[in-house]
Amino acid sequence: MITLTNVSKTYPGAVTALDGVTLTIGRGELAAIVGPSGSGKSTMLNLLGTLDRPTTGRVRVAGHDVGALSDTELSALRASRIGFVFQQFHLSAGTSALDNVADGLLYRGLRPAERRRRAAKVLERVGLGHRTDHHPHELSGGERQRVAIARAVAGDPTLLLADEPTGALDSVSGQTVMRLLRELHSSGTTVVIITHDQELAASLPRQVRMRDGRVVDDVIRDDVIRQEVPREAPAAEVGR
Ligand code: ADP
Ligand code: MG
Repeated sequence: MITLTNVSKTYPGAVTALDGVTLTIGRGELAAIVGPSGSGKSTMLNLLGTLDRPTTGRVRVAGHDVGALSDTELSALRASRIGFVFQQFHLSAGTSALDNVADGLLYRGLRPAERRRRAAKVLERVGLGHRTDHHPHELSGGERQRVAIARAVAGDPTLLLADEPTGALDSVSGQTVMRLLRELHSSGTTVVIITHDQELAASLPRQVRMRDGRVVDDVIRDDVIRQEVPREAPAAEVGR
């Protein structure tokens, strides 16, 4: 699904946020990225999600060499394949839950009525069918994050990237959000989650540990993987 080959990222002011990272994330994985603040986790997630380009090295996502694509092509790749969830939800204020999710489908060439129909369906799926008309300020943190997840997955992405998705939530809401992310993984989506929560990270099949812009450890837990399989190849993956 994703390969980073000797990837570095230097920000203006000569901050080296990533320093020669090589990493492969396979289709259908559920992986945690962990490490101290400032270790390059968000920078790496942005590169995995083609929101940014590396300073040096190569990034391949879903069979595409990111460096070889124009900005327009990258936008199209993101819109069709990748969903994002952030710690602070990033919902539009003054817009209903339904329209927040429907707007995530703007680049799909669907009519407004079809976008809203799909949005209603995915809000139902995250347990918010009764909150479609609520605006973000009328929702709890956990509900907002479920709206954000609905928006991220409305277009049926193959890759879901989450940057501290439970970081702003109480533990019960955090567990609900994690249950949703696990369900998406079980249905075939590749899921990568940045987290500070050691317990959460330890419960996932893979932990990529970062420090000072480098991957310093990469643990794949056989016992957790055994719990996840056997799993039939989801039909939705065919042809992706
Ligand atoms: P993490 O997510 O692990 O906390 P980040 O990837 O956000 O780490 O940041 C890695 C390093 O890059 C930090 O030193 C941070 O200050 C720096 N950094 C991140 N984004 C920018 C930016 N847009 N401009 C300059 N420096 C940045
Ligand atoms: Mg970060």
